[in-house]
Amino acid sequence: MGKGCCVLGSSLAALASGACSAPSAAPTRRPNIVFILSDDHAAHAIGAYGSALARTPNIDRLASEGVRFERAFCGNAICAPARATLLTGVHSHVHGVVDNAARFDGSQPTFPMALQQAGYATALVGKWHLKSEPTGFGHWEVFPDQGQYYDPELLSAQGKRRVEGYASEVVTDLALEWLEQRDPSRPFLLCLHHKAPHRSWEPGPRELSLYADESLPEPATLFDDYATRASGAAAQEMSIARDLSEFDLKLGRPTPRRTEDLAAWSAAYDAENAALRARPLSGDDRTRWNFQRYLKDYLRCVAGVDASVGRVLEYLEREGLAQDTLVIYASDQGFFLGEHGWYDKRWMYEEALRFPLVMRWPAEIEAGTVDRHLVSGIDLAPTLCELGDAAPLPRAQGTSLAPLLMGREPSGWREAIYYRYYEYPEPHRVEPHYGVRTESHKLIVFPRLGASELFDLRADPREVNNLAGSPDHAELEAALREQLSELQRQFRDAPR
Ligand code: CA
Repeated sequence: MGKGCCVLGSSLAALASGACSAPSAAPTRRPNIVFILSDDHAAHAIGAYGSALARTPNIDRLASEGVRFERAFCGNAICAPARATLLTGVHSHVHGVVDNAARFDGSQPTFPMALQQAGYATALVGKWHLKSEPTGFGHWEVFPDQGQYYDPELLSAQGKRRVEGYASEVVTDLALEWLEQRDPSRPFLLCLHHKAPHRSWEPGPRELSLYADESLPEPATLFDDYATRASGAAAQEMSIARDLSEFDLKLGRPTPRRTEDLAAWSAAYDAENAALRARPLSGDDRTRWNFQRYLKDYLRCVAGVDASVGRVLEYLEREGLAQDTLVIYASDQGFFLGEHGWYDKRWMYEEALRFPLVMRWPAEIEAGTVDRHLVSGIDLAPTLCELGDAAPLPRAQGTSLAPLLMGREPSGWREAIYYRYYEYPEPHRVEPHYGVRTESHKLIVFPRLGASELFDLRADPREVNNLAGSPDHAELEAALREQLSELQRQFRDAPR
């Protein structure tokens, strides 16, 4: 926690020492909140989380000036369910958005709604993806559905418009415009929600040339044969070898409309595409080509998001707002960057399960903090309600992270996180599953298959050696099954 701080510090310390769900003493000063949420940005595509490839100096700076949560896990690794969980503090079966087809009931209590009722000026720009109209925001302007990377359409209460430019830059412009014209007498909540780096990974004109002459290292499991896994791992349709489209791979029509953007696009892709057409590749060679094209585009999109973070930080510093503003960088879930041969998310495996969560609040959070508690997506909403001195969300299933922000050890922190994935068979034939992850192990149950997977995350961090059913691990497996049942009782979830 910040040195020598003030009235708010002592009130937060009181919060931190109390029971997590206890009513809180009101902070006398509340932070402004900027919640930057990207879409499908894996933690392992961030420098601060150990990536040697990602170019994320601004997110890295945010982490080095605040706290980086090392073990933040989503409860359902696809966009709409994970987003609804961040807003409501409850798992999918409670907020009802179990898959991307479901519509979010906007009358449910959310943290933006609670902060708005507590006096915050609230705004949302960018990706929403929950089908219903945003609620809890005094101002909102969002991409319809997934939105577009180039010259995106935006939807607001006033209707639709198209804005020229690249999505990550457009939403940043809109966010800074709102900050400029906000009511300065009230604390603010700004939700700046990026489309990037979601499929189909279309980089912005400023990032198209990054990684041009590099060959990116392949993950150890790019050619995973799924030998020990349940049958679902081999049956999925999210394979870099088989399932990327010509459009995904930039072998189809270019996306940009404007001449200058088209020129940058052609410069980035045309020569490589021509070489592939002149000398088509097959088998593992083609998989490797697909991997390079996919991952470079993904990381280029990430670099564009990072540039946006830099612009926001610069604005806050220039306007004297940095000290008292909580800036959060997160993504809705993780993503596979070639591990197990995959793109996309969905699975309870680490790459998709973990999401980046970084918070900076110079007045209160000690710079350079790394937190290793098991954190879940259900925790964000209770945290923000507490910090903003808003009424607690009545249904919240998560626990406020306020004590952890203070560097305090809360009593009775969770020892396991709960996960449940539903969406099947379309679009990627990923088997429905649920499971438990502890500090050291993970048990995944595939009810349709009557199969399970058990991984020792310390000995086998890549999750390729399934120990379920092994007599040597029978006791451990039974204990994890009991822990999973206990979580299902606690969250009142009853999968068939
Ligand atoms: Ca997502």
